[in-house]
Amino acid sequence: MVKCKYCGEQAYVWVSRAGGPLCRKHLIQLVEKGVEKTVRKFRMLEGVKKLGVAVSGGKDSVALLHIIHRLYGDRVRLLGITVDLGIEGLRKQFEIAVDNYRELGVPYRLVDLGVEYGFTMDQVARLSRRLRRPVCSICGVVKRYIINKVAYEEGLDAVATGHNLDDMWEFALRTLSSGRIEEFARLSLVSPRGPRMIPRIKPLGLTEEWLIEEYAKARDLRFFDGSCPYKPRNDLREALRYAASTIDEAAPGYLKICVKGFLEAAERIRPPEVKLRFCERCGMPTTRRICSFCSIREKILSLLAEENSIK
Ligand code: SF4
Ligand code: ZN
Ligand code: ZN
Repeated sequence: MVKCKYCGEQAYVWVSRAGGPLCRKHLIQLVEKGVEKTVRKFRMLEGVKKLGVAVSGGKDSVALLHIIHRLYGDRVRLLGITVDLGIEGLRKQFEIAVDNYRELGVPYRLVDLGVEYGFTMDQVARLSRRLRRPVCSICGVVKRYIINKVAYEEGLDAVATGHNLDDMWEFALRTLSSGRIEEFARLSLVSPRGPRMIPRIKPLGLTEEWLIEEYAKARDLRFFDGSCPYKPRNDLREALRYAASTIDEAAPGYLKICVKGFLEAAERIRPPEVKLRFCERCGMPTTRRICSFCSIREKILSLLAEENSIK
């Protein structure tokens, strides 16, 4: 029997960068201490009394909710935020998010995209050719908008999201390799505060994806293990994520060193914040007259109306 290097209990997982085999208890400790260090170093919770936690129901956001609840639940008031995107294949995922809030006694807001905004991501996927934009890009706008809006309405000081180290790496490589330096410069673990713009923090941003999954399993957390039907296959993202796991296996800890370097580089080239105005339709912050959410929503609703009039 392989034993945990700290306590001699049966080993649960091998973590090379921690120097070998760890039992469940020490794996859980390793991950939580790592997150605590990241939160402290990047001052993520300075002045935060009310914190939103965006939970989709997948492993990262469910682990995030449990870690934040365990580490800070007695000091910070938590509010779960979940957006039901209206994707039939993902309905279970949002139900699991709610189950986790209930289990921990964390209050939450569940936003139903179809009910509150009049369209679903299943409809967007059907219309994506006519919208001339990939589904995931629209989905990203929708999620960011709704999470910020809820955070503003609820008077939250910040919102934590489940982005992990592999997400950070992938974003950095994808933007750099295609020369999109302005986008790369937005890489950060804490996004800036602005008028009606609530900062987003990424407490898992320096924790490897596989380790988060092992953490979730070690704690028997309930999370959705499937994937979205609209997730693009075999694209650059998948290749970069595969490269990330290979690098982490060959040189444990190197991925984290890379991402820390990317974060410093992005910080140095970050342009001054642009002045925001308020959207004429919804009053939320934007650089344009009408925010990107309202513009895309108007297009979607008009295409849906067109479809209905033809029927
Ligand atoms: Fe949205 Fe794309 Fe993620 Fe599906 S894969 S939830 S459409 S961003
Ligand atoms: Zn141990
Ligand atoms: Zn708007």
